[in-house]
Amino acid sequence: MFKITKSNPPDYFERAKQKVERPLQSDAWKDRHINGIRKALREHILLEEQFILCAYCEKEIDETSEKSNIDHFKTRHLFPKLTLDYNNLLVSCNSVGRCSNYKDQNIRLADYNKIINPVLDNPNDFFNYHLTGEIYPKHSLSPSDKERAESTLEFFQLNHRGLTEERKKISKQLEKLRGQITKEEVFKYFSSYKSFIEYLFAML
Ligand SMILES: [Zn+2]
Repeated sequence: MFKITKSNPPDYFERAKQKVERPLQSDAWKDRHINGIRKALREHILLEEQFILCAYCEKEIDETSEKSNIDHFKTRHLFPKLTLDYNNLLVSCNSVGRCSNYKDQNIRLADYNKIINPVLDNPNDFFNYHLTGEIYPKHSLSPSDKERAESTLEFFQLNHRGLTEERKKISKQLEKLRGQITKEEVFKYFSSYKSFIEYLFAML
């Protein structure tokens, strides 16, 4: 997970929002005016704010793919008033068993006090990475921040086996390339897992 700096909402989103009949209800997301711009909005968020990565697992997303979705960080059924709040909209890979897909099925209202919001918090302050591909809470965290880091790993399943295995492969490749490749070249080479790569690159 990485820090997300939200851009200004695109004009077409603001215009569509004004036409929605019940903007503060969860079904506002299904309104035809919003339906019509959702694809463009997803591409905008991915390109302008998320380096074309899933907001949670940091796997590269094909911006034209229908599989990824705009996730309501604070889910619509728990926070209907935030349905059209631009700062609540993040693009997720929507893979089964992790990221928005897992969070939406498992999170309850009170859990939001226990997780990191990448728009408000900087995830880099909370996580360490290991060559095995696993993500850990930083040792220096206060007990409450440690709990937030752990809950975030849990609610988005960021140590899901498929993810740790892919990250482990990257760490092995990076070790081989140590000293022979610049940071810029690293990011041309590897398109996913930005935070993991940055952390390892600084460490190797
Ligand atoms: Zn993901």
